[in-house]
Amino acid sequence: MASGMTTKDGKPFDRAALDYVLRRRLFYTPAFDIYGGVSGLYDYGPPGCALTNNIVDVWRKHFVLRENMQEVDCTMLTPYEVLKTSGHVDKFADWMCKDPKTGEIFRADHLVEEVLEARLKGDKEARGQKVEEKGEDPKKKKKKVKDIAVVKLDDALVTEYEETLAKIDNYSGDELGELMKKYNIRNPANGSELLPPVAFNLMFQTAIGPSSNLPGYLRPETAQGQFLNFAKLLDFNSQQMPFASASIGKSFRNEISPRSGLLRVREFLMAEIEHFVDPEGGKKHERFDEVKDVELELLNREVQLAGKTHVETTKIGKAVETGLVDNETLGYFLARIQLFLLKIGVDPKKIRFRQHMANEMAHYAADCWDAELLTSYGWIECVGCADRSAYDLSVHMKKTGAGLTVREARKEPLKIEEFQIDVDKKKFGPKFKKDAKPVEAALEALTQDLREKLSLDLEKDGKIVVDVPGVGDGKVEVPKELITIEKRTRIDHVREYTPNVIEPSFGIGRIFYALCEHSYWTREGDEARAVLSLPPTVAPTKVLLVPLSQHKDFKPFVRTLSDTLLDLGVSFRVDDSGASIGKRYSRNDELGTPFGITIDFQSVKDNTFTLRDRDSTKQVRASLDDICKAISNMVQDREKWADVAARLPAFEAQEAEAS
Ligand code: AMP
Repeated sequence: MASGMTTKDGKPFDRAALDYVLRRRLFYTPAFDIYGGVSGLYDYGPPGCALTNNIVDVWRKHFVLRENMQEVDCTMLTPYEVLKTSGHVDKFADWMCKDPKTGEIFRADHLVEEVLEARLKGDKEARGQKVEEKGEDPKKKKKKVKDIAVVKLDDALVTEYEETLAKIDNYSGDELGELMKKYNIRNPANGSELLPPVAFNLMFQTAIGPSSNLPGYLRPETAQGQFLNFAKLLDFNSQQMPFASASIGKSFRNEISPRSGLLRVREFLMAEIEHFVDPEGGKKHERFDEVKDVELELLNREVQLAGKTHVETTKIGKAVETGLVDNETLGYFLARIQLFLLKIGVDPKKIRFRQHMANEMAHYAADCWDAELLTSYGWIECVGCADRSAYDLSVHMKKTGAGLTVREARKEPLKIEEFQIDVDKKKFGPKFKKDAKPVEAALEALTQDLREKLSLDLEKDGKIVVDVPGVGDGKVEVPKELITIEKRTRIDHVREYTPNVIEPSFGIGRIFYALCEHSYWTREGDEARAVLSLPPTVAPTKVLLVPLSQHKDFKPFVRTLSDTLLDLGVSFRVDDSGASIGKRYSRNDELGTPFGITIDFQSVKDNTFTLRDRDSTKQVRASLDDICKAISNMVQDREKWADVAARLPAFEAQEAEAS
């Protein structure tokens, strides 16, 4: 729970105020607004687009460039066959329950969570304890969850509720149904009983082509495109393993109840990595040494299953050594994910990694950790990092016959003792005619154990019987004259294996919103002056150019500064409105603009300018070249404001009041 969410400077966090800023300044806005909007769909405005692009840019440099990943851009429209094979058609679902009277639909786990939390809150109030809001507008929530009566609960029931909440993500549909019965959870709006939870598939279905005979879906993740291109990418990578592919693009999920603004939407930008690794040798990572001392806050599976939520600060090297995190490659990415989040400005105190419990894991995953960020909505999964084992490549290979494996020359040739089957082709064809091929394929597919057994049958009975589906009654007799089964030694020079996949999967919209919450604060004594302390690397606009007035003498300087910043690739805006300097700066503080350059009469005299830092409002004064270079350095994270303030002369003018 986001109890007591505070801003960077320790004041209570005011979500309504941040939402107001983000919407008013067009970071994002409900899509189709003038038609009444559609829940779970949002448009991004200019600062939102710039912030998203900058986050993605850092992501690309941090992951794709640094590790020489193979970036691909695959289609969003995906044929039915692909998602049937991957398991999404059958299993990519959430549990929903319906009010048979009103037709209202609830997401079962969210409903149980909301009602139990509301009851615990009512209990706290009844005990006279301080109740902290999770972030929803309390008036709105009260109306929605009628169950919020101020009633003291049994101590044992409080513990039960708390334990249930700690493992809420681990329940199956049936278990959620039982919880609803056990705790008498009904439609909070009217108290009526709900139907038992049923699975609801989250994919948007469509038909491809005018005759609508190719069913398809909008992809729910970018991963499948990467798996299907595996063989080509391996080739592109000169058959070198391990390697990673990466993709940035939209994904679609028909969420049962979109809520919490950008946190649960139906169309969102994902950035995903599929790191292909040899399953033999413990999934080591060449660069694990570089991150082994990175400390992470880990909330492991056992703690959650015990109904608790405490985290342990652990060096990732230790977590892998003790087996808590399954392998080096998974651990490497957990650490790299944290470093990325810190780089873009996420509050280090508001990151934790939560391990999935067994039932919660996606159908393809072998182990999974989520990077969760603390927001006023609670801890939110912003990055999932799953070990998908060989699941996806194996199922696609089985379905299509495509060679989604790696073939490697062995360092040491391998001696293999095995039962080999030889058929006498001259006799085999005439005997089985059109069935010769399936019979031969069935023999070829026999396991070593069966081969051993059949070699004995052959010796004893002079024939064997094999299962060949679709031929006769499914059983085929092969006489001794047509076949030999012998144990022989073979020297194998090539090793063939299906790689395992470690998949870090980032929801850019969730990271965007959490980052805004973590960056938001207000100036001391003036709560109306909001500031978004976004780091210069990701801030939507880097510089505000502020001529003191519209005096014509300032114009050439605005032009020269603009040209210089353009040359340096630094984004800027000019504000030459009549508003006071302070007001102009504060309008841009809430857009997250980190720097301001003032052009005043001194500039006209000696070609010097003041450079203002958004967070401290401190200023320095220097030449055009020095100022622009300092900005460029800070935007590229080569220098911090403290470095610049230490080497350029301070400018001690009082900042004009905003209002
Ligand atoms: P998943 O494949 O479910 O692990 O999702 C990967 C990432 O996508 C999550 O960590 C989230 O950041 C993001 N994500 C998933 N579902 C949504 C959604 N409905 N709205 C926004 N982001 C989402």
